[in-house]
Parts: sequence; C-alpha cells; structure tokens
Amino acid sequence: MSISRDLLLRASRSELLARQLVRRAFLRRALRRFMPGEHLSDALEAATGFAAAGVGTVLTQLGENVTSVAEAGAVRDHYLDVLQQVERRRLPTHLSVKLTHLGLDVDRDACEQAVRALAARAAGARTTLWIDMEDSRYTDATLDLFRRVRPDHPSLGLCLQAYLRRTGGDLEQLLRLAPAIRLVKGAYAEGPAVAFPRKRDTDASYRALAARLLEEAAHAGARPVFGTHDMRLIRRIRENAAALGVPPGGYEFHLLYGIREADQRALAAQGETLRVLISYGSAWFAWYMRRLAERPANVWFVLKNLV
Ligand SMILES: Cc1cc2nc3c(=O)[nH]c(=O)nc-3n(C[C@H](O)[C@H](O)[C@H](O)COP(=O)(O)OP(=O)(O)OC[C@H]3O[C@@H](n4cnc5c(N)ncnc54)[C@H](O)[C@@H]3O)c2cc1C
Repeated sequence: MSISRDLLLRASRSELLARQLVRRAFLRRALRRFMPGEHLSDALEAATGFAAAGVGTVLTQLGENVTSVAEAGAVRDHYLDVLQQVERRRLPTHLSVKLTHLGLDVDRDACEQAVRALAARAAGARTTLWIDMEDSRYTDATLDLFRRVRPDHPSLGLCLQAYLRRTGGDLEQLLRLAPAIRLVKGAYAEGPAVAFPRKRDTDASYRALAARLLEEAAHAGARPVFGTHDMRLIRRIRENAAALGVPPGGYEFHLLYGIREADQRALAAQGETLRVLISYGSAWFAWYMRRLAERPANVWFVLKNLV
C-alpha cells in the first residue's frame, strides 16, 4: 500500500481529525465534488435529474459504527422513509446500507430485523436493498446475515470485495442463492494476510470474479453489478458479457457520484444499465478520506480549495 493511501486510510479512522476538519470551509467546498449535498432532499433532487437522463441511482446515508440501539433504530426509520419517498416519486432508485450503521456492533438480532424490514419495504417499492461490505472484521457477520435473510427477501443484494483473498470461496458458496452481487475492489486498510497488497493482484482477482459472475448471469444464476470506475475493466466486462450472451439488463454498472462523469454519460448513451451511487448525510469524514485514498491525487484538488 502506498504511504499516502495508508495515511489517508488511517486519517479516516481518527475521530480527533474528523472533529477538527469537518467544519473547515475548504474541505466542505472540495466535498461537493463527491456529493450533491448533506440532506436527503439534495440526494433526491440529484436522483430526479439522473432519472430524467435515463440513469438510475442508489442512495446511501453516510454513517457507520453506531453505538446505541436508539441510533440504529433512527437509521432504520430514516431508510423506511427514504423508500417511501422513492416510491412516491417513482424514482429508479435503489438503497445501500452499512450493517454497522444499522447497529451490527450493538445488537445483531435487531440489526437483522432492521434489514428484514427494509428489504420487505424495498420489495414493496419494487427496488433493491444493497448491503455494503465494510472492513474485514465484519465480513463473516455480513455474509451470515445475508445468507439468513436473502431466502426470504430476493430484493436483497450484497457487496463483495475483490481485494480479499477469501472472496472467490465466498462467491462460490453464495452462488447457490442466485444472488444479486455488487463486486468492488475494496476501500479499507487491510493487512496482507487477508487482502492482496498489490493493486495488480486485486485487479486480477476482480477480473476473475467478474468472469465467474457473468458465466452465472448468462443463465440467470446471478445478478451482477460491477461497482468500478476502471474503464479498462469495464471494457473487458462488456466484451465478456457479449461473448457469453448475457442478455441486456442481465448485469449493471454502478459508479460513484462525481467520478468519471463523462464515462458515465458515455456508458448510458451506449445502452448500458448504469446507476450512480449518491451519498448524503453529515457523517462524511471517514467516507471522504476513503475516496481520497482511492486516488491520492485528489488531495491536490482539496488543497486547491484552500485558495
Ligand atoms: C457503486 C460502488 C459501491 C461501492 N461499495 C463499496 C463497499 O460496499 N465496500 C467497499 O469496500 N468499497 C466499496 N466501493 C469502493 C471500491 O471498493 C473502490 O475503492 C473504488 O470503487 C475505487 O476502485 P475502482 O474499481 O474504481 O478502481 P481503481 O483502479 O481504484 O480506479 C480506476 C480509476 O477510477 C478513477 N477513480 C477511482 N476512484 C476515484 C476517486 N476516489 N476519485 C477520483 N477518481 C477515482 C480513477 O480515474 C482511477 O484511475 C464502492 C464503489 C462503487 C463504485
């Protein structure tokens, strides 16, 4: 891992830094590149704009590792309200949630009940509820919860991280459920025992996992979503999907708001099913540091906002 990436990922875990920096105007200005605003209304307005251009969206409220049952309950209720608003506005919008935001650290049963309630509501709104994958301390608990809930709620999808050495095995087990899987490279600081330290190994792992998912998608054995901005990878996935005869809509690309926007427009114009993941909320510090770590050159963009 490069020193700058390592530093930024360490910063993402510092509550002291978060407290000192979140009010700084230059950082808030730079943040606007990655999120339309802190409020749900900002995200819904952006989603409405994308919908008008034929592009779907995924909404997520920033936040993780809540420390009380009451906080987790408030997050669940917030998302139930979001689903209602999405349905009322007829938006082509999915939701993505973090289990530690729904209280995984505090009360696992209550967290599972919250996921069940949200998945049922998502199905009612004819949309998909995605579970993010957090750092590797949570991988087993996240997979367990998904395996338990998914048979009752086909509208539930799960994120898997290509940088984890275990993911090939996890995917094979999950395929029995004909699941919706969002494949990403992985955004957290992980040791070499659990994750590939070299980017090229993560990229190779992503290619292999994507190929496996497409094989399954060719006979509706999986619903893959490729969460990446790596255009070389995207080109290869499209070629592979065409060669395997995966039907249109049999897979999707999901990209983050504000990243590679010209490529997003081009993919949509070329008929690919594309969604843009829009984040909102005030707890953006850790998430924003992870975005900077993905491309440390982004730090220059932040510094430019100082002047
Ligand atoms: C829809 C979606 C959901 C995600 N969910 C999760 C999750 O649940 N768990 C998790 O661990 N990770 C998640 N991630 C983040 C993911 O793991 C990667 O950290 C992130 O997508 C960067 O990897 P990449 O595939 O774009 O490839 P990279 O090889 O890192 O980047 C490819 C190119 O994309 C551009 N790019 C990538 N990131 C940035 C950036 N931050 N700023 C500017 N340009 C950039 C650059 O041009 C770069 O050269 C998600 C990503 C997406 C798109």
